Amino acid sequence: MTTAETVETASTESGPVRVISHWIDGAERASSSGRSAPVYNPATGAVQAQVAFADQAEIDEAIASAQRGFEVWSGWSIAKRQAVMFAFRELLNARKLELAEIITAEHGKVVSDAMGEVLRGQEVVELATGFPHLIKGGYSENASAGIDVYSLKQPLGVVGIISPFNFPAMVPMWFFSIAIAAGNAVVLKPSEKDPSASLWMAQLWKEAGLPDGVFTVLQGDKLAVDGLLNSPVVQSISFVGSTPIAQYIYETASRNGKRVQALGGAKNHMLVLPDADLDLVADQAVNAGFGAAGERCMAISVVLAVEPVADELIEKITERIGRLKIGNGAGVDGVEPDMGPLITDVHRDKVASYVDIAEADGATIVVDGRGLSVDGLEDGFFFGPTLIDRIPTSSRAYQEEIFGPVLSVVRVASYDEGLDLINSGQFGNGTAIFTNDGGAARRFQNEVQVGMIGINVPIPVPVAYHSFGGWKKSLFGDAKAYGTHGFDFFTREKAVTARWLDPATRHHTEHTGINL
Ligand code: NAD
Repeated sequence: MTTAETVETASTESGPVRVISHWIDGAERASSSGRSAPVYNPATGAVQAQVAFADQAEIDEAIASAQRGFEVWSGWSIAKRQAVMFAFRELLNARKLELAEIITAEHGKVVSDAMGEVLRGQEVVELATGFPHLIKGGYSENASAGIDVYSLKQPLGVVGIISPFNFPAMVPMWFFSIAIAAGNAVVLKPSEKDPSASLWMAQLWKEAGLPDGVFTVLQGDKLAVDGLLNSPVVQSISFVGSTPIAQYIYETASRNGKRVQALGGAKNHMLVLPDADLDLVADQAVNAGFGAAGERCMAISVVLAVEPVADELIEKITERIGRLKIGNGAGVDGVEPDMGPLITDVHRDKVASYVDIAEADGATIVVDGRGLSVDGLEDGFFFGPTLIDRIPTSSRAYQEEIFGPVLSVVRVASYDEGLDLINSGQFGNGTAIFTNDGGAARRFQNEVQVGMIGINVPIPVPVAYHSFGGWKKSLFGDAKAYGTHGFDFFTREKAVTARWLDPATRHHTEHTGINL
């Protein structure tokens, strides 16, 4: 199964291109909206497909189909639903390389990194296979004389998921695995920049035996998003993306009475204490700063070097950057580069503009990735790994999310100065401390105002049975992704207080057969 099987074609000046469209009622559904956008191969810069943008009629059709799917699926027994979850997990595990290659073709990240994304998503699928234990509620016998109290966890109904370009498989899996296991029907609005992974996963659900309508893909832009936000049928919204849109989603969906998970952007700092192992730090800073070309919400973008380590650390990082190979994420003759291109030329230019800002603000550009050209891929959206020293903390390039392969160093005099910088930032997604002092690390985990903390671990994405979420402008509201938070989010609890009289108290007892 490849996405090349998909759908109709559209014509452009350069000939027909594939059109990527919706998945409704268990099948691909061509769009007649007349609206679409190009999907690029970021390594070559070529348009490889057009993605359809839903109109209101298609939005309504998708939601209505999901509602019908919910009515069927929520009536299935737990055992039958669990069989589908296991089948999905087995199919995914067997065919994950197909999905990784689809991600690379549209996102640009190297295949091994795309595979890493799939595996982190698969973790949540695996957690969700154990859903019966997590949605079984509780029972208190004889809470009052002759009265029992128990809780039921029921699905919400139709739930909406809106995902970002940088994890086209993992982020949807964070949400849909748990939502579907718990008995809901999902409408996924993927990023328009890399929409094919969603259709591949839809096909996989069908093969796993999921009833039609339970997993729907609605391709589109703001119109599709607003269609989900404003539909009275849609019970909840799970969003991951940039902070301004996360805030808009949170406010609009809440105003419309929906539950919301809304995860936003980030600017993650790595605090390096003078006692840290600087070779380990340099390795981790390069992996966490430049992996996936820095297009990760948990990427490290600032190294806070507690003096006197900055000069030595910068030397070690610079040396490692020199060894990085940049090229087509799909690899050539089975050999993979270390880093692929950025998602679009527009985004590449935005990343470059932040390096310009840092330079104009007086920072030192130690390694400059601007203007990088890769042989044979001159039209690809490449940007070289960039290292910036002495960035002023007043610079927009320090304060804002760049979302590219740009690592900045701020030299600080003490742990406290570093901590204050982290805590004064607008984001609070992830952070890391590198030290050999357990007491210092313990103090840091207590004092830092960030949702996910690494101790000698640069990208502390929690495993599936914990939950993922930042603080401040990295997460609006209080609903985190997956783990127990995920199950709480995708179920609605009922508490039942019941009194059943003992047969001995009844006037007519003969039909019970109980010997009184
Ligand atoms: P984005 O905010 O541009 O888009 C996310 C989704 O919102 C897409 O599906 C898009 O179509 C939709 N969207 C875009 N503009 C919209 C609008 N005006 N109204 C309604 N919907 C709109 O984000 P992106 O560029 O796809 O992803 C990168 C961002 O996501 C970064 O800021 C990154 O930090 C963040 N991110 C955060 C996490 C996290 O867990 N906190 C994880 C991954 C990515």
